[in-house]
Amino acid sequence: MDTIITRFPPSPSGYLHIGGARTALFNWLYARKTKGKFILRIEDTDEARSTKESVDAILESLEWLGIDWDEGPYFQTHRYDIYNDHIEKLVASGHAYHCSCTAEEVNSMREDAKAKGKNPQYNGKCRNRNLSRTDNTVVRLKTPATGVTIVEDVVKGNTAFGNAEIDDFIIQRSNGVAMYNLAVVVDDLTMNINTIIRGDDHLVNTPKQILIYQALGAELPVFGHVPMVLGADKARLSKRHGAMSVGEYKNMGFLADAMINYLVRLGWSHGDQEFFERRDLIEKFDLEHLGRSASMFDADKLLALNAKHIQAKSPKELGEHLLFHLSALGIEAQNDAFTQAIIETLQPRSKTLVEMAKAAVFYYKDEIEFDQKAADKFFKPEIEQMLTKICDAIEALCDYTQENLENLFKQIMEETGLGFGKIAQPLRVAITGTTVSPGIFEMLLALGQKKTIQRLRKAIIFIQALA
Ligand code: GLU
Repeated sequence: MDTIITRFPPSPSGYLHIGGARTALFNWLYARKTKGKFILRIEDTDEARSTKESVDAILESLEWLGIDWDEGPYFQTHRYDIYNDHIEKLVASGHAYHCSCTAEEVNSMREDAKAKGKNPQYNGKCRNRNLSRTDNTVVRLKTPATGVTIVEDVVKGNTAFGNAEIDDFIIQRSNGVAMYNLAVVVDDLTMNINTIIRGDDHLVNTPKQILIYQALGAELPVFGHVPMVLGADKARLSKRHGAMSVGEYKNMGFLADAMINYLVRLGWSHGDQEFFERRDLIEKFDLEHLGRSASMFDADKLLALNAKHIQAKSPKELGEHLLFHLSALGIEAQNDAFTQAIIETLQPRSKTLVEMAKAAVFYYKDEIEFDQKAADKFFKPEIEQMLTKICDAIEALCDYTQENLENLFKQIMEETGLGFGKIAQPLRVAITGTTVSPGIFEMLLALGQKKTIQRLRKAIIFIQALA
């Protein structure tokens, strides 16, 4: 079999949205699975709507997702000469022709057709006039008047389009600029793309593109049109269904691996498996299991999957991603043993990295602030003595281990007659400033002996000042 070559050709008129990312992912996975090639092409011929910011945002989102490309990014605006060469060839071979009909003429042809109960179309007036190019001529493709063009689709099966419904459409404007469908086909051909997976909103273009392939005497690629991603209300996904931009998900603390896992399940399945690691996906992905029915975006499911991926990763791996979110909170940390110990305490209870970063802040702070309510409730004068006991005992520990800490607490409970909760809560406030934190022992271990002692001493001074 030939090397599989796929592509992702975004139009840079906005960020990379969920639907686009899913298309990119399907093509990328298929290329990676088959050890093929994945090409990135920027479809920027709509120069009024294309922006450099969008290109940058799209590339950044792809990079974040870990969707890397083997070639490109190519820009269509740099390729007009290639399109025009192909247009010349089509004219020379009699598959296309110059047309001088004005917009008004074409409009009245459409009206006539409508009046006769036909599709409103261009009527082929210049087809056999053998006109030459002028500043006012466009180039049209000679399309067959009868028969059908069949789109063979690995997802949807075959769809037949009546050729009579397709008029001699324009492939080059009078200003010499190639039209969209022509540019896409020439790109796909010259880039040797042989597999095209895209949203089914493009299915209407496919018969026209097939006619261009045929006119160029070229072999067709494999097409697969995947159904759109819908919101829970079955309407096409839009801003009101939540964040649309992949970049926003990064900022909201999602892991790229969770995002990829979520995206792939919007239209592809492998039995009833829900959780996939990246390499697992590359191994298992196929075109046969792309679904025919639209999938619904479910933000809760994405969140649950993110929590699972957070739990599945090593603290070291998570550290690499967490630093970004810590930095957003003003904490410049390293992915070192301290950070990794912190992560371990937060992993089971964080659904996002933002949540994790917020919960991690207290570990890094030199000065923690005591939550007023928590301090009022738990920093009673009698607590000072208990905290001092704990602090002294911790300071005396040669081995700062879970076992020794547990024994130490047992002893204090016996001595003071206090239950664990009565000791743990004030201690928690002393260490974190609040009443919510990971388990006492894991937290104390992650914080380390020195910092634990420092914090307890500060809390003791704070309580003394209250008296
Ligand atoms: N540029 C198109 C888009 O962003 C994709 C066209 C294609 O996949 O053929 O929707």
